[in-house]
Amino acid sequence: MDLKRNSLHWHSLTTEESLQQLNVDLKTGLSDTEVQIRQSQFGLNQIPDEKGRNLFQMILAQVSDFMIIILIIAAIIAGVMGETGDAVAILVIIIVNAVVGVIQEHKAEEALGALKKMSTPQAIVLRNGYWKSVDSLELVPGDLVRVEAGNFLSADMRLIEAFSLKSEEASLTGESVPVEKSVKEIEVDTELAERKNMLYKGTVITYGHGLAIVTATGINTEFGKIAKLLKEEKRTQTPLQKRLSKFGKKLTWFLLLICLFVFLIGIYQGGTWLEMLMTSVSLAVAAIPEALPAVLTISLALGARRLVKKNALIQRLPAVETLGTVTYICSDKTGTLTQNKMQVDKIWSSQEEKLHLAMFLNNDTEKGLEGQLIGDPTETSMFQFAIDKLGDNLSTCQLPRVGEIPFDSEVKRMTTVHHSENHFKVFVKGALESVLPLCQKIPENVESKALAMAKEGLRVLAFAGKETDSKGEDSTWEKELEFLGLVGLIDPPREESALAVRECKHAGITPVMITGDHPVTAKAIALRIGILENEDEEVFTGKTLAELSDDQLKEKLKVVRVFSRATPEQKIRIVKALQDSGQYVAMTGDGVNDAPSLKRADIGIAMGITGTDVARKAAHMTLLDDNFATIVTAIREGRRIFDNIKKFIQFALIGNTGEVLTIFLAPFFGLKIPLLPIHILWVNLVTDGLPGLAFSGEPEEEGIMDRPPRKSNEGFFDRKFIRQIFMYGTLIAALTLVGYVIGLRTDEAHAQTMAFTILTFSQMILVMEIRRTRATMFSKSFYSNPSMLIAVLSSLIFHLIILYIPFMQKFMKAKPLNGEHILISVALILIVGVVFELEKLITRMRSS
Ligand code: ADP
Ligand code: MG
Repeated sequence: MDLKRNSLHWHSLTTEESLQQLNVDLKTGLSDTEVQIRQSQFGLNQIPDEKGRNLFQMILAQVSDFMIIILIIAAIIAGVMGETGDAVAILVIIIVNAVVGVIQEHKAEEALGALKKMSTPQAIVLRNGYWKSVDSLELVPGDLVRVEAGNFLSADMRLIEAFSLKSEEASLTGESVPVEKSVKEIEVDTELAERKNMLYKGTVITYGHGLAIVTATGINTEFGKIAKLLKEEKRTQTPLQKRLSKFGKKLTWFLLLICLFVFLIGIYQGGTWLEMLMTSVSLAVAAIPEALPAVLTISLALGARRLVKKNALIQRLPAVETLGTVTYICSDKTGTLTQNKMQVDKIWSSQEEKLHLAMFLNNDTEKGLEGQLIGDPTETSMFQFAIDKLGDNLSTCQLPRVGEIPFDSEVKRMTTVHHSENHFKVFVKGALESVLPLCQKIPENVESKALAMAKEGLRVLAFAGKETDSKGEDSTWEKELEFLGLVGLIDPPREESALAVRECKHAGITPVMITGDHPVTAKAIALRIGILENEDEEVFTGKTLAELSDDQLKEKLKVVRVFSRATPEQKIRIVKALQDSGQYVAMTGDGVNDAPSLKRADIGIAMGITGTDVARKAAHMTLLDDNFATIVTAIREGRRIFDNIKKFIQFALIGNTGEVLTIFLAPFFGLKIPLLPIHILWVNLVTDGLPGLAFSGEPEEEGIMDRPPRKSNEGFFDRKFIRQIFMYGTLIAALTLVGYVIGLRTDEAHAQTMAFTILTFSQMILVMEIRRTRATMFSKSFYSNPSMLIAVLSSLIFHLIILYIPFMQKFMKAKPLNGEHILISVALILIVGVVFELEKLITRMRSS
């Protein structure tokens, strides 16, 4: 077999010929050894990404910053002119800085890569005679794959069986109307878009199901051939990143002016131009927050990694940030708020035998390797019930399915046609109001019976059927049916739902249930988990919703918490109406038709277990456990992550303000610049590097879910934020200058060391204070973030090394401080803590 010769026109071969060419047995699929052979021949089923950057490129990116380049040049000039020590010290610090940056970036890339890997779709393949789910990366030509509505296809395939199969191939052909598929062979020279018996990588199954054989994988697929032409979606910036980089640019210009001023004043005071160039450029390097967007990515990426551990898989990084703004969660009922562990609870029928047969045949449940049932729980529960009832007669009941209209959440029913010896049987099951109109005779009180079941919170399905002599057409199947009975399925709420709903309400988030189920069932469940609080609250149906104008809907949305018999199209109306009223909406979904509303929502949430690939691709986040409570956990985590980013930025800005003001203000008091370039760079490295990273590990603030959602447009440059930056920035600068002046009584070198010590450690106090907004630094959370304590402690140790180990003293131009110096410095440093504690005390007193 020479599969490399991919000029084979699979669409022109019959299904048998395709199987033969690919050397596969339709009953057993490929064997594991054969898969291995083909995998070594064709490689993994993937289109190689553009190469990631190597270590050298990453370091280069870190040091290619304009200011850093100037600094390097200045250092080299200094070196040439004899100041070798200075030059080496500066270069070493630049390198250490770059290494820290690379490590951070690498960590973020790793976290993102892991997330990406978790989102690759799975495929159901027949191997060694058994169906199993494998990573789509592992597909090889010849694999038999089961496909169904919602699948995102990852290889090219020739169809072997197709039931009402449609696929959307816009990514390949540009045609957005779904194409109907069939299995019959067609002319060799048929165009790609017309090859009805083929499925292509990168396209999506929108309807029906079928069986197909893989004909090409990876770069050999049609998609692979054009993939080189398609540009990879660039990593988009989050709103916060955009805002910060804009802010950063403005700040940069401002700081450059200050640095220019420092340069000129320095020369005026008698410094050499090289000295002053290094000083002012070091200041620029230290004060310009060019790393902020990168730090943000890192925090978000690390946050995403934590979220996965809590079963929320982030697909788009900005979602981590948006989570904290959510004001509405619109959630599915079945499986998200409930357990989706369906069980038949009640049957109402006058001809149970036929009903059991219908439950068995009108059913998409599959048997797995160990006889376990695979499929939608609504389906498997009825299947289980039916096989229990049919028992010994089961073998006579296995009638082949010859036609079907698949379940559709718009129509809310499914129909199957089966061939029996000399006749055909048609079965329909679905929502009562969807099945009853198809029936010839409607039993009395069926509606009240169904209502009674729904009141208990049961999911009610109606069954109907008929026998015909000929198979007929789709259009004739659902006519003149005989009513067979009702089935009530029990689906208890998840235990954690009620608690999560309560937490939402506390946190200023409104939970809304949107379900395809009956209004009475929906209400019963909503009451049980607390989405509704009393019996009189209105439940809206899709039908009433359809009659409302957008404005009326907006009005209604202020009070209505449950939507039933809603269609996916209505979900998007609900999202839009809420967004138009200024709300931030998280919306769950699982099906193909949910994709538009998932995309539109501020946070589109797909189901990891029951969801389709299509929903997952459209969503911002996937719930690995399909659990409503996980959404609330994710929001909580999102709030924490945002808080910590805000704290980090505040910390960095206060520190930088302190550094800049120290140098900028000194001349106004007739002082020389209190810090050497190397000191400035060191302070920057020690304060921004370690504690900065440690912020991402800060636990949440107390009462994080007792406050309303953050307003998204507010950002965090609020009054208090800005006031604190100026207040503590000025305080730190003032203390540093005081220390410097006191140090001058000994000599200038000692004064510099004191200034640099005070500047470093007042920021260490600051970092410990900023961790908690209201509580004192010594509250019980003091030990809650070990990496923060380690960061601060190691800064202290480094500093002592610099001051007291002779080699380092020389290298860093530092002097050992004596007891008096130390005492004065400590006293000055502590002032920052005292002032901060006082401010917190006042806030606490005011609000209590
Ligand atoms: P939800 O997931 O919100 O509970 P669905 O769209 O899955 O809603 O179901 C809506 C209605 O469609 C159900 O109340 C039921 O009457 C009907 N239905 C659900 N699943 C099936 C199925 N597998 N076959 C036939 N009808 C179904
Ligand atoms: Mg459902």
